[in-house]
Amino acid sequence: MTSFQGFGLAEPLARALAEENYVTPTPIQTQTIPIAIEGRDVIGIAQTGTGKTAAFALPILHRIMANRTPLEKKSCRVLVLSPTRELSGQILESFLAYGRHARISATLAIGGVPMGKQVRALQNGVDILVATPGRLLDLVRGNALRLNKVDFLVLDEADRMLDMGFIHDIRQVVAKLPKERQTLFFSATMPQAIAELAGQMLRNPASVSVTPQASTAERIVQRVIHVDRGAKPAMLVELLKGESETMDRALIFTRTKHGADKVVKSLLKAGIPAEAIHGNKSQNQRERVLAAFRQGAIRTLIATDIAARGIDVDGISHVVNFDLPNIPESYVHRIGRTARAGAEGVAISFCDADERAFLRDIEKLIRAQIPSTDRRTGNPQPVAAEEHHRPRQQQNRGRPSQQQRRPRPDGAPRQQRPDGAPRQQQAQRPQQRPQGQSAGTTSNEITGVAFMQRGARRADDRRPQRGENGETAWRRKS
Ligand code: AMP
Repeated sequence: MTSFQGFGLAEPLARALAEENYVTPTPIQTQTIPIAIEGRDVIGIAQTGTGKTAAFALPILHRIMANRTPLEKKSCRVLVLSPTRELSGQILESFLAYGRHARISATLAIGGVPMGKQVRALQNGVDILVATPGRLLDLVRGNALRLNKVDFLVLDEADRMLDMGFIHDIRQVVAKLPKERQTLFFSATMPQAIAELAGQMLRNPASVSVTPQASTAERIVQRVIHVDRGAKPAMLVELLKGESETMDRALIFTRTKHGADKVVKSLLKAGIPAEAIHGNKSQNQRERVLAAFRQGAIRTLIATDIAARGIDVDGISHVVNFDLPNIPESYVHRIGRTARAGAEGVAISFCDADERAFLRDIEKLIRAQIPSTDRRTGNPQPVAAEEHHRPRQQQNRGRPSQQQRRPRPDGAPRQQRPDGAPRQQQAQRPQQRPQGQSAGTTSNEITGVAFMQRGARRADDRRPQRGENGETAWRRKS
């Protein structure tokens, strides 16, 4: 299919697509839309960034427009489950963008915001509900929502939902849905547990998948600093001050929310403006801080892994792992926040004695040894002047070969997706560094690993604004 016309989508949808400047369907859209329009279940392997939101949203919108039924109170016709608030918000925005001429109602049910507004938004029923599983169940248990009128179920980023421990919630939700429904199931990967879940939820599904092509290898200079745990705050201050000339925006990861707040305090004490974003912050606070970070008003942002999933910011020059993640994949997700859009980035990780095992797991996963400096007591080496050696690439070990990403459908440079993750990586032959240059202070060196990153939503995407806190947004035919 080389144009959207061939799908026979309802005119208001076609008009919205033209306004969005969507001309050519992406491969996942070409595969999914015709099947889903017919009403078949679909199981799709596709990463975010491939255009899969439109692949499920368009046929669903088309079908609910073709068969409008009065909405019952406290019900929804379309239920979209997504792992994070931020992704949920983006999905809602997509539905509203594509359905802007279609007289549809849509709302969010996500945690981190007061329930009252969501309860009110559901009072008269809603066409489309985009939800994270926990809040959805809270609303169901609180009698604010019944799921017996759901005609369409979408599971987005199913693998991530499992990673985040939502499996029981998902099973509970599915048990409350009508058996007669259409289910569209998307996952970036298809491990056994996901395939089993899909097997239980889908009826005679059509399979679709896209394998993204290689993008230009984004380059991330990686370093590890071995440090005593108690010395991390001072080391961070030293690092941020030392790198300030090349640092546009730094994203600093801590393992816990409390840890994030502590880092902010110590930076503020050292005169470095910083803010934290994590699950204890309200949605409003998170949005305000993110906007300031995006605009450059704050250059240092501290985040936990979960909070960082929604961070969709270009121009992050540095990622600092104040704490190393205990899940090695998280390291790859984290450092993928930098070096977007062809830029280069620096990823520096602090490793204390307790984190050695995490580092080993990470190096095994990325199949490379990360250049390191020892700054533990008794090994006083200045951070900026360390000798960098090139990482030793490990051939044919660890994970199997990688899927790669496709360029953006509209041809713009592909960037790292907010909650997305380079699940796959490719060891590359490092280039020779000119003598005397040190990592993190030059922009054209490579220390080894180039990552195939998952799709990204561009910060400048033309998307409609959603209401504050994601309350019901109505789009009427104009
Ligand atoms: P998604 O994978 O759904 O998050 O989409 C990734 C990005 O591609 C979003 O910014 C979409 O607005 C955009 N997009 C999706 N489909 C198309 C298309 N057919 N043409 C142009 N842009 C698209």
